[in-house]
Amino acid sequence: MAEPRVVVVGAGPAGMRACAALAEAGLRPVLVDEAARPGGRIYQQPPDGAGRPARELYGLEAAKATRIHALAPALAGRIDHRAETLAWNCFADALDLLGPGGPSRVEFDALVLATGATDLALPFPGWTLPGVYALGGAQIALKAQGCAIGRRVAFLGAGPLLPLVACQYLEAGVAVAAVLDATPFLAKLRGLPRMLSAPATLAKGMLYVARLRRAGVPMFFDVRRPRVEGRGRVERLRFEAGGVEREVACDALGASFGLRSETQLADLAGCRFEFDPRTRQHVPARDAAGRSSRRHVYVAGDGAGIGGADAAELAGERAALALLEDLGLSFDANRAAWLEGSLARLDVFRRGLEAAYPFPEHMVRDLDDATMLCRCEGIAAGALREAAIAKDAGEVNRAKAFTRVGMGRCQGRMCGRAAAEVLAMARGEALGQAGRLRAQPPVKPIPMLPGLLS
Ligand SMILES: Cc1cc2nc3c(=O)[nH]c(=O)nc-3n(C[C@H](O)[C@H](O)[C@H](O)COP(=O)(O)OP(=O)(O)OC[C@H]3O[C@@H](n4cnc5c(N)ncnc54)[C@H](O)[C@@H]3O)c2cc1C
Repeated sequence: MAEPRVVVVGAGPAGMRACAALAEAGLRPVLVDEAARPGGRIYQQPPDGAGRPARELYGLEAAKATRIHALAPALAGRIDHRAETLAWNCFADALDLLGPGGPSRVEFDALVLATGATDLALPFPGWTLPGVYALGGAQIALKAQGCAIGRRVAFLGAGPLLPLVACQYLEAGVAVAAVLDATPFLAKLRGLPRMLSAPATLAKGMLYVARLRRAGVPMFFDVRRPRVEGRGRVERLRFEAGGVEREVACDALGASFGLRSETQLADLAGCRFEFDPRTRQHVPARDAAGRSSRRHVYVAGDGAGIGGADAAELAGERAALALLEDLGLSFDANRAAWLEGSLARLDVFRRGLEAAYPFPEHMVRDLDDATMLCRCEGIAAGALREAAIAKDAGEVNRAKAFTRVGMGRCQGRMCGRAAAEVLAMARGEALGQAGRLRAQPPVKPIPMLPGLLS
């Protein structure tokens, strides 16, 4: 066989480690990423490098960020890095790309999808007002653009990003109005025994909370019925905590309720999906090494199921070793076994985190019919509930046909999970039965360029 054509999508921790292992084995993978510089979400770099110190951008993760960033120059000439390039469609053996040089198609014998995750958005009254951002988006504004989303910012969520981002804003000199956790404090205690399996990571999380408390930032748990109010933009946030109605004045809000995997390319590649009850989403079925159901298509990192950055690094390398093995090339079997063992150990901590931040079902239960769920198409929660009951649409693609939910620019990447939750709850059925919106190309909006769709 001539040298196999290998493509890796995603230059985050998973994709970079996959590329390093492939280059080490003598292959020259094509690395595709929308971003100008490698690092993915957690280690996202300012597009122009901007020269801000790693300690300032990544805090306690600065050393890891520096190691991942250093891989790019170390691999120069050994990988074909296509930066600022979107993979917008996927076939059995090729990807459609759109980069600085225009549209192109890259064929592959093997493909590693390391496409990461986005914030999980859940609707609530006022969430479409200017000044409301995703929690991770608020963080990316700091890391990539060096700006804050407001002068007095409140944060709302249900995951470990909540105290982290609030702390990063505090350290950047922004007034943090309040930190509102939609999950109960008792859940943290339930997650503790498993989280003790990674004491250093747990200590970091506790440090963020301690810093917020020291700075006198109001923190509330089991926050319910949040609603943003203001004339034309965010002016205040109302919510219930401990059975008491409260109000916080703020000019911006960072809010999201966990992460969701970016799986559209795997879907278009024809990979089989399965429901993961832990993260309440459908993800590509895979073995412990990252092999999908499609021959020579591998999935790694948060795009294959939420596992965090350390797990993403290990999974990216493990997938690369599986790829080498499947192509009949030499690979280090001991290293592969070690990587799998390490991933299993990290999974114990992840289970603890999941127990500490359970999905806030009350956000779905309390969602009123008038609140917008699908922003692209302007579909309110009530329309979905009506489709679920009156039109017997228990599955999201069927509900899409009736209501147009998920049919707009984002193709359901932002509203698909919330839609499934609303449908399942309206019908009193298991979430897995609501299914997932099927991926459609382009996976993200692209301009209509001559020759693009030929
Ligand atoms: C906004 C955000 C902020 C986060 N911040 C933190 C944090 O501070 N601390 C923390 O511990 N965890 C954080 N996380 C979670 C953390 O980012 C992940 O656990 C970790 O980065 C996963 O690594 P990965 O390599 O799987 O994916 P990522 O790091 O997400 O990298 C995926 C890469 O794939 C690229 N990509 C995706 N689709 C395409 C496509 N179609 N075409 C081209 N390129 C594509 C993206 O541009 C990205 O660079 C954050 C997550 C998000 C979404």
